[in-house]
Amino acid sequence: MTSRVAELSEAQKKEISELFGEYVNLDKRERHYYNHDMGALPSLVKKVIGNTNPAAVVKIRTEEDAVKLLKFANRHKIPVVPRAGASSGYGGVIPTKGGIVADVTPLNKIISVDPERQKAVVQSGIIWEKLERKLKEKGLSLQAIPSSAPSSTVGGWLSQSGAGYGSYEFGWGHESMEKARVVLPTGEIREFSGPELKKLIGTMGTIGIITEITLKVQKFEERKAVSASFPSASALKNAVEDIKRKNIPLWSISFLNPEWADMKNKAPRKLHYEEVVDKNRPMLPVSYVSTFMYPASRDVSGLKEAIEGAGGTILPEEIAKYETDEWFKSMKVKRLGPSFIPAEVLVPLEKMDKAFEEMGKKIKLPVLTEGMVINDGYVVLLCFMRHSERSVLFNTAFALSLSILKIAEDNGGRAYASGIFFASKRKSVFGERLAEIEALRKEIDPNGIMNPETLEGRGLLNTAVSMGSTFEPFGRIIGNMSGIGKVSFKDEKEIPAEVAELAYSCSQCGYCVSECDQYYGRGWESQSPRGKWFFIKEYLAGREKLDQRQTNTFLGCTTCQMCDSRCELDMPIEDAWMTMRKKLVIEEKKMTFPPFEIMAASLLKERNIWANYRKDRDKWIPDDIRAKMKDKADYAYFAGCTASFVEKDVAVGAVRMLDDAGVEFTGLFDKESCCGIPMLVAGRWDVFEKTMRMNIANMKKKGVKTVITSCPACWLMWHTVYPQWAKKLGIEYGLEAKHYSEVLAERLDVLKPKFKQPLDKVVTWHDSCHIGRAGGNVYEPPRELLKAIPGIKFKELEYNRERAHCCGSVVSLIAEPPVAYKLGNMRLQEALDVKADIVAALCPCCVFQFRVAAKENNLDIEVQDLGALVARSLGYNLPDSTAYTLESWAPFEKMIALMQPENMTELMVELMPQMMAAMPAPLQAMMKMVKYVPGMDALMKPMMPIMMPKLMPSVMPKVMPDMLKAVERKVPMPDYMREQLPELMPKAMDNLMPNMLPELIPLLTPRMIEYIKTH
Ligand SMILES: Cc1cc2nc3c(=O)[nH]c(=O)nc-3n(C[C@H](O)[C@H](O)[C@H](O)COP(=O)(O)OP(=O)(O)OC[C@H]3O[C@@H](n4cnc5c(N)ncnc54)[C@H](O)[C@@H]3O)c2cc1C
Ligand code: SF4
Ligand code: SF4
Repeated sequence: MTSRVAELSEAQKKEISELFGEYVNLDKRERHYYNHDMGALPSLVKKVIGNTNPAAVVKIRTEEDAVKLLKFANRHKIPVVPRAGASSGYGGVIPTKGGIVADVTPLNKIISVDPERQKAVVQSGIIWEKLERKLKEKGLSLQAIPSSAPSSTVGGWLSQSGAGYGSYEFGWGHESMEKARVVLPTGEIREFSGPELKKLIGTMGTIGIITEITLKVQKFEERKAVSASFPSASALKNAVEDIKRKNIPLWSISFLNPEWADMKNKAPRKLHYEEVVDKNRPMLPVSYVSTFMYPASRDVSGLKEAIEGAGGTILPEEIAKYETDEWFKSMKVKRLGPSFIPAEVLVPLEKMDKAFEEMGKKIKLPVLTEGMVINDGYVVLLCFMRHSERSVLFNTAFALSLSILKIAEDNGGRAYASGIFFASKRKSVFGERLAEIEALRKEIDPNGIMNPETLEGRGLLNTAVSMGSTFEPFGRIIGNMSGIGKVSFKDEKEIPAEVAELAYSCSQCGYCVSECDQYYGRGWESQSPRGKWFFIKEYLAGREKLDQRQTNTFLGCTTCQMCDSRCELDMPIEDAWMTMRKKLVIEEKKMTFPPFEIMAASLLKERNIWANYRKDRDKWIPDDIRAKMKDKADYAYFAGCTASFVEKDVAVGAVRMLDDAGVEFTGLFDKESCCGIPMLVAGRWDVFEKTMRMNIANMKKKGVKTVITSCPACWLMWHTVYPQWAKKLGIEYGLEAKHYSEVLAERLDVLKPKFKQPLDKVVTWHDSCHIGRAGGNVYEPPRELLKAIPGIKFKELEYNRERAHCCGSVVSLIAEPPVAYKLGNMRLQEALDVKADIVAALCPCCVFQFRVAAKENNLDIEVQDLGALVARSLGYNLPDSTAYTLESWAPFEKMIALMQPENMTELMVELMPQMMAAMPAPLQAMMKMVKYVPGMDALMKPMMPIMMPKLMPSVMPKVMPDMLKAVERKVPMPDYMREQLPELMPKAMDNLMPNMLPELIPLLTPRMIEYIKTH
């Protein structure tokens, strides 16, 4: 077997970097995110396992990648741990011996689908949920699907083995699989099918990297569901047995025990901006609640009789609907944990009631149980006991999971899976297959590089589990005394109590990972919501540091709220990052993204973020419209910064449409200020509040009742965030907000006859997050407006409405333009896939981002604003703003690049003579000694981090005039920006320097020493 590999050698690092380029990560802090699976382990077990950080993480994008990686690892005898959704909890993705984590999630393509033969060939890393959606488009459906479908993968289920929905009809997940292609540790590719396939099932990445799987699928058919309550486990068992006897053709049978149903009723409500979303959530009876699913066309007439004959009661349809709508949210109740002690067992159906009875008698902690019935006469029981992983009692309470296993074994059952924790149970899990699997591993993996320790476990852990099983009654007594009361959280270090609570509640299921644009724009776990929750727990445990790098991770979220819509625990995730922004930037004085500081200075000075003049803000208003605009009116049009200064066609289009539709409105003209959202996401809540107060006061002076916006972010502020803040700050609000599309969709009858110009183009629609998922689900009004344009051929993007992907602006564009270009490219590719000529959107920032991304990626696609398209069709001559958009971006792009530590260092090196001259005379003399006194440079190195922060406040103002000249040389900019820079730059620098210096000093010090020595 291989030995532990905590770090690769320098030569190995070089070699692997050459092999995988940007797809290998050697960064120590990033690797830390790949050291665990979804299970929370007791501290004693953690101690036994020791350090589990891998030495590298590699993204496997192709089968050739897998071959390259395994050949490399085999040659150097480095352990390799395949990792897919990481939604399993048996330690299969934990690198107990370090080595390389092979992330197979990029292997996510569908290779072929054969509707005739009902077969699909897929890459192993494809997520079940996505596969099911794609199959549905072809009139097909999966035979069985795990309840972790939004994050788990096809390869993961074959490797981990399990049952799920549909197992009542189709059996274990692997029974739907026919063939698998595997890259073996030597790099050889082997296909496993027929009896050979059995050697792969449940082997948890110990045979090789599975790259492709052939699945049996079925014809798609809508399903129906019936939910019923049963007074006891026996009644439920009797009903299932009757159903089996009568061959009632169900697809799936799943159930909850009374403890689970009770907790589900008590689970926190889903909130959106502090408002309850799921107001009409039905209450479950506190009993055994079972849900029976079947294809709609099937005759299940005996079902009612079977349920009622066993003493069950059929529940209202809304419960069946709720239970099936939430079928992938099985761990929702974990919010009440915050931690869970799991025990997953298999028991024969005929003994299920007995197992429940024994659990009731022997286990004193409430055991929440979810069950699934399999067609082989067994039932999977997923049992959880609530606890707190931070309590010492977590260690002793864990013994109860062995007690549940013992109860299952006593009743003819076994552990659901083995893995590193239950390796001592592997004989009962694998049965006679174990010998074949072990022989195969010896043959193909003589160096033992594939996921070592996963099947055989580790000595001390195996002994502990064996002893725990032997002395189970003793462990149970202690375990039963290890319950805890309600767990409360308090503010701790820099983490507010409510954020800490969410971090411990997060089940680490990973539903939020693949669809988070911060994650898929960068590709590494630290950037995902799951990763951020992991970070917070690690930070609180003293194993991570909350520095500027981590602050940037919190700031880097685009606020798209995809995570909120995907979270199985309905956690308000994005809101937590918002709280962290304020906490870190305002209270902890960490740095926000540097361009935000320039924007803040511009906003405070001129009320806009584009470093433009306030007096020019309303110049876009056409004269004829200005003449019609009232001083006071019920409606006001609020243009926002980007439409006022950059994409003026957005604002002009909006007012033209409103005017044509007969809407009378006023505006704030040059008194309009930025809505403030950039400051909210920058963490500069102080500037946001000022801005908001000013806007509300000005709007009220105009007697306005409804604010109409064109920008979704402005809409979100006026519609949702301002009222929320106003309430907290005691400001009387009394305003409502609408997007122009909402106003106009109601007046289409007035507008439609006025369309003059047809638009004979294929147009697709990008749903902007801030008015869709993150706002108020305004999906249909803009579509109605767009489709009203004569001649248009409308096409939906693959990801639309609730599931629409973010454009990648604004935060990504400001923080890391290359990431924004990548995200923009991905969304524009969707438009190209549907062969669109034009991507239309209603957000000036999305339009801006797409135009920039189209240029950067050389994509031949037009990006237009909805209002501008409609207004042109109404016969108005609105010049295209694309060229001006790109022109406006250029200085910002250069400024962002300039603010990167490496470039700021260069700028300071350029200004070195001025900096030296600005220093106090004695210090200058001391520094000169570096040139003459040997060893002085070594002394200077540790001095710099102490000296520079003290010196900068006096040096900076003296250097500023030259700095401004240098910036002007490097960043060609329009006059209005150049004229204002002398005022904006010093303010921005004052705020940035304290946090920028720690990043600059290590780069600057050697350059400074070099300068002194050579001058
Ligand atoms: C909310 C929730 C619900 C769940 N419901 C179910 C359920 O209904 N039924 C069920 O059985 N389980 C369930 N699970 C557990 C888990 O989702 C499954 O075990 C799932 O199949 C794991 O898939 P994964 O892609 O996340 O694999 P991972 O967790 O990433 O990996 C699991 C094992 O497979 C190996 N592996 C993964 N991909 C490959 C590959 N391509 N080649 C070689 N080895 C590989 C890994 O090394 C590891 O040992 C649930 C989990 C959660 C969080
Ligand atoms: S809001 Fe969007 S970008 Fe931010 S963490 Fe959630 S999914 Fe990722
Ligand atoms: S945040 Fe929600 S979806 Fe994401 S890992 Fe945690 S529980 Fe799962």
